[in-house]
Amino acid sequence: MITTSVEPRGSRGADVELAALSAILVHGPVSRTELATRLAVSQSTMTRAVKPLIDRGLVQESSEALEGPGRPSRPLSGVPGGRTYVGAKLTGDEVIAVVTDMLAHELASKSGTLDSHDPEQVADVTAGLIRELIDPGELAYVGLSLGGSAVDGRTVDRAPFLGWRGTPLASMLEERLGVPVVIDNDVSALTAGEHWFGAARGLDDFAVVTIGAGVGLGLVRHGQVIRTRDSGLGLAGHIPLEGHGIPCAAGHRGCATAVLSIPSLEAQATVALRRPTAFSEILDLAREGDRACAEIVDGAARALGRLLALVADLAMVDVVVVGGDGIALLDAAEHDVRRQLRQDRDPDAHELELRIDHSDFTRWARGAATVAIQASLRGLLEDAES
Ligand SMILES: [Zn+2]
Repeated sequence: MITTSVEPRGSRGADVELAALSAILVHGPVSRTELATRLAVSQSTMTRAVKPLIDRGLVQESSEALEGPGRPSRPLSGVPGGRTYVGAKLTGDEVIAVVTDMLAHELASKSGTLDSHDPEQVADVTAGLIRELIDPGELAYVGLSLGGSAVDGRTVDRAPFLGWRGTPLASMLEERLGVPVVIDNDVSALTAGEHWFGAARGLDDFAVVTIGAGVGLGLVRHGQVIRTRDSGLGLAGHIPLEGHGIPCAAGHRGCATAVLSIPSLEAQATVALRRPTAFSEILDLAREGDRACAEIVDGAARALGRLLALVADLAMVDVVVVGGDGIALLDAAEHDVRRQLRQDRDPDAHELELRIDHSDFTRWARGAATVAIQASLRGLLEDAES
C-alpha cells in the first residue's frame, strides 16, 4: 500500500499512530482535540497520525459533527468490522472461545471439553474449536487466557490446574492455525477487557475483583493493566480477611480463597447440611430462611465487603468492577457487602463505586480477545506502511 503522508513517518510518528489508534478504540467516539490533549501532542501531529488510520479502514469519522470550542469536528471511533479476532479461555476441563470484531463485540462462541491435559492434545482441541467457529485465514490474531502465568505472552510458565511448566503454547497454536497467538493470565486479560470494552471502559484507574473458583484481583493504573512476574499466582486469593475459619490449600486460615471462593462456600454448606450443596442452592436456601446457609452467605458477604475495602485502600482506586461466576453472592447480599465496606473504610473516604459485571462466562474469552486486539495493533500499522 502506498502511504499518502507528505512527511516521512519516523518511529516517533509510528508511535503516535499506535497511541492514537489505541486511544480511539478505548475512548471513541473522541475528537481530535481531545486525543491530542490526552497524548500530549499538537493538533497537527494528531491530524497527521489519524489520516493513515482512516485510510487503512481502522478508524472512521462520525457523520455527526461535535459542537465545541473552535470549529466543529467529527469524532473518531474504531471500525468494528476492521478486523476479526478469537479470544479463548482455558480452564482445567474446557475451552471457551469467542469470535469478536475489533471492538470486542461477540460474533459467535463455542466451548469444547478437554479430556486430557497433555499440551499437544489441549492445543489440538483449542485449534479444532477455533476452526469450527471461523476459518483461521480470516483472523488477525488469537488471544488465549488461562489461570497461570505467561510472562512473555508466548510460553506458559506455570498453570497448576493443567500441571504445566514452560509449555510453548503460543507456538503450538500458531503451527496449527497459521495466525499469531498471544497468551495471558486470565484475570489480567479480563481486566484488559473491562478497561478497553467493558464495565470500566476508558477509566485510567480501577481494580477488578472476581469471585469464582478462586478470588482474583486485576488493576489498571494510569491506563495500563498492571502485570508482574507473580500475576499468574492469584496472590489476592490469599489476602487475610478473617483470623479464623477453614484454611485454604496453602494453609491460610481465613484468607480470601478460604472464606469467599465458590468451592469453599460449597464445602461449608456440605458440612452444615451433611449433603453435597451447590453454590446456587446455598443462595436459594439462604433466601428461604435456612439458618446454616444464611450464616454462610452473611460470612461471605462480610468477607467480600472487607476485601473491597482493602483493595480500595491499598490500590487507591475509587472504582472496582466486581465479576466472576460467584457474582450472585453480591446480588444476594449487596446490602451486607456495602455495610462492611463502609465500616472498614475511613468515614470521610469517597464512596467506592462498584460496577457489577453480570456478563456470563464468555467475558473471560472476550478479555482474551481484547489482549489479541491490543497485540495486533502494531502489526496492523506496519502492514499499512508496506
Ligand atoms: Zn490462602
